[in-house]
Amino acid sequence: MHPFAFTKAPNTRAALEAGRRGGRYIAGGTTLVDLMRETVERPAALVDIGALPLREVTVTERGGLRIGALVTMAEAASHLKVRTLYPLVSQALELSASAQLRNMATIGGNIMQRTRCSYFRDVTAACNKRAPGSGCAALEGVNRTHAILGASDACVATHPSDAAVAFAALEARVHLLGPDGARQVPFVDFLLRPGSTPNREQALRAGELITAVEIPAHPRPLKSGYLKVRDRQSYEFALTSAAVALHVRGGVIREAKVAAGGVGTVPWKLPAVEAALLGERPSDRLWAEAAAHAADGARPLQHNRFKVELLKRTVERQLRIVGGSR
Ligand code: SF4
Repeated sequence: MHPFAFTKAPNTRAALEAGRRGGRYIAGGTTLVDLMRETVERPAALVDIGALPLREVTVTERGGLRIGALVTMAEAASHLKVRTLYPLVSQALELSASAQLRNMATIGGNIMQRTRCSYFRDVTAACNKRAPGSGCAALEGVNRTHAILGASDACVATHPSDAAVAFAALEARVHLLGPDGARQVPFVDFLLRPGSTPNREQALRAGELITAVEIPAHPRPLKSGYLKVRDRQSYEFALTSAAVALHVRGGVIREAKVAAGGVGTVPWKLPAVEAALLGERPSDRLWAEAAAHAADGARPLQHNRFKVELLKRTVERQLRIVGGSR
C-alpha cells in the first residue's frame, strides 16, 4: 500500500473543503481499501465522511424514498420503508456481497464500486480503466463475465452493483453536493459508459459528494422483484440479473420498469422490453415476446456468448415471477 494522508471530516463543510483540495472520500471502505492494498488505487489523501449526517431513510413529500448515502446496505435492505415501498431494492441488496460486507458498505459506496474485471485488479495487465492508453487485456483474454452491452474498444467491463440495477429500473436520482452547490443527476446518467475514457466512471464533478439516492413515487400497487443468476448462490457477482416492477390496473400493464445487470458496462435499462409490455395484458406469451428484446444490440465476446440467451431467459423468468404465470 502506498502512503497516504488521512483526515476525518467533522462536518459536511470540512468534507467538501478536503474534497476540493483533492481528497478521496471514504465511508465503509470495502472497495477502496482492497484496491489500495493491491495498489490499483493510490490516493494521496483520504477523507473519512463517516460522521456526516447522511444516514436517514425518508419518505419524500411526493411519496418517493430518499436513502442517505451513508446508510449501510444492511440497514437499507432491512428498513421497513424500503421493504414495503420498494422491495426490489431490498432484494437486490440482500443478494449482494456477504453479510459482513453489507454491514460495512454504504449505499453511496455501493454505486461507486469499481469493476470486478480481474485484469483491472492485476497491476501487471494492460487495462485502460486503471492505466489509460495501456490497452484492454480482456478483449483477447478470458472475458466470460464481461459485458455484452454498452462496451467499447477501450473497455468491456461490467458494473458490479446489484442495487444499481434496481435504482436504474426504478428511475432513481442521485443527489450530489459539491463546491458549486447541490444538484441531482438521473441514475442512468450518473454511471458512464466507457467510450474512449473508461477511467471516468461517474458523472461527478471535482470534489462532489453523493448525499442520497432518491427513488421517485410510482403508481401503486407496484409488484416488483430482483432475480440474480450467478455461478454460485452466495457471495458472487451476477452473470445476468433482472430488476422488474409492474403496475397492473384493470388487467392491463400501465407501468413497466425493467433493467438488467451483469451484462452491461453500466446497469442496463431495457426500454424495448418496457415498451413491449405497456398497454398489454399479462400472459406467458407476453413475457416471452417482451423478453426477446432484452439483448437488443448485444455484442458478445469470445467467451460470453451464452449471456445473450441467458439474459433473455432471466428477464422472461422474472417477468413471470412478478407478473404471474397465465
Ligand atoms: Fe481494464 Fe476494462 Fe479491459 Fe477490464 S475490460 S482490462 S477494466 S479496460
